[in-house]
Amino acid sequence: MRTRYDDDRSWCFWGDEPAGLEGLTARAWSDWVYQAEAGAAHPHRVDGVAYRYVRAADYYAHCRARIAASEHVELRLGVAAGAVRRDGEALIVSTTAGALRARWVVDTRPRRQRALLFQCFSGVEVDHGGRLDLAAFGIGADAVGLMTGMRADASGLGFVYVLPLSHSTALVEWTRFAPHPLRAAEVRAGRNAALAALGVRLGEPGGRVLREEGGALPMGRVADDALAPSIPGLVVAGAAGGALRDATGYGFARMQQWADDCAARLARGEAPVGHSPEPFVRRQMDRIFLQALRAHPERSAEYFDRMARGVAPERLLRFLTDRARPADLLAIIASLPLLPFLAQLPDRSRRLAEPLGRRRGDLVGLGARRPRPARAAARAAAAIGKPEPLEQVAS
Ligand SMILES: Cc1cc2nc3c(=O)[nH]c(=O)nc-3n(C[C@H](O)[C@H](O)[C@H](O)COP(=O)(O)OP(=O)(O)OC[C@H]3O[C@@H](n4cnc5c(N)ncnc54)[C@H](O)[C@@H]3O)c2cc1C
Repeated sequence: MRTRYDDDRSWCFWGDEPAGLEGLTARAWSDWVYQAEAGAAHPHRVDGVAYRYVRAADYYAHCRARIAASEHVELRLGVAAGAVRRDGEALIVSTTAGALRARWVVDTRPRRQRALLFQCFSGVEVDHGGRLDLAAFGIGADAVGLMTGMRADASGLGFVYVLPLSHSTALVEWTRFAPHPLRAAEVRAGRNAALAALGVRLGEPGGRVLREEGGALPMGRVADDALAPSIPGLVVAGAAGGALRDATGYGFARMQQWADDCAARLARGEAPVGHSPEPFVRRQMDRIFLQALRAHPERSAEYFDRMARGVAPERLLRFLTDRARPADLLAIIASLPLLPFLAQLPDRSRRLAEPLGRRRGDLVGLGARRPRPARAAARAAAAIGKPEPLEQVAS
């Protein structure tokens, strides 16, 4: 539940701006780089395709202006939604400002999820005054470091994500793949070490923090055994509804597409829809890949390095953006060692994903030093009688 909108994150994606969001790109790059620690850099580029960066502050301002101009849509800040129940033909949503009655409900509140892996990250937009040593990770001009300084150990993959925003500012993130959400302090420490490797020390000249972001995104969601029965007319969407791609955690472009489709349906008087289920082949490819990362965490940097080196950029990009052709999948399979991946053909995801509640990291939405909004939302939900599973995950 929000009482205001802050510049709390940024979204990147490949391709054109989604319809209706034209002009929101704050930066775009033509090259993205993969690099294993102390290894060669693999710059990727696909003609005509940009990697775009949208700032949350711009996106929220844009959306709020559109809401303000609409006669049919209203934003109620500071109101927490709780339980949803059916009452005859209607749905009743209890909120901290009384009950709402609706024909349909689209619920995009974050919720804890079981997953094969969690992508835990802590980032900082920093004013480095020109000190950022991009060459240390093989990041060239007009390029982003997509997965650089990759290194793996028995607990998983770690890598540095670098978006050079101007000659003196950049977003630098440390990311770890782990079987459970990690403690924010641990990931933040990794981020500071990554910054130091790039020549930047926070708090010193050339290390001024402009804003922070972080989270723990589920990769390879596994349905919860104790899933509440679905309520007719209620659609769960966004990250909580399966919008994030299993193998990558990217979801912005997918959510925009879904939102357009869903809004068009509502405008026609039709019931809302959630995200389409992943096509079978993509789901299996992603699952096998994530299981292989779980089985051999110490080899995960090698797997990504092999793909970056051995798969043509346009093929890998089609895979990352949900447009893979059979030949792209074959090229990816050929780039990876056969036996560790063959061993992951059986679906072990339900056994591997930790049950909800057994272990709890504190990397909820914002890794920054702020009050924890998810806790506030849970408290508010409790105050209106029916606590919802709201802690954690993507935002
Ligand atoms: C820091 C960060 C960076 C990311 N970067 C990228 C990226 O570069 N590219 C990409 O594709 N994806 C990215 N993602 C993943 C994903 O795109 C985002 O998490 C996205 O914001 C998810 O959208 P959502 O609508 O599902 O959730 P959110 O954007 O988090 O929206 C959920 C909303 O529900 C509200 N809420 C919660 N509880 C209640 C309640 N009880 N009552 C009322 N409202 C409530 C929250 O306040 C919030 O406004 C990122 C995620 C994070 C956390």
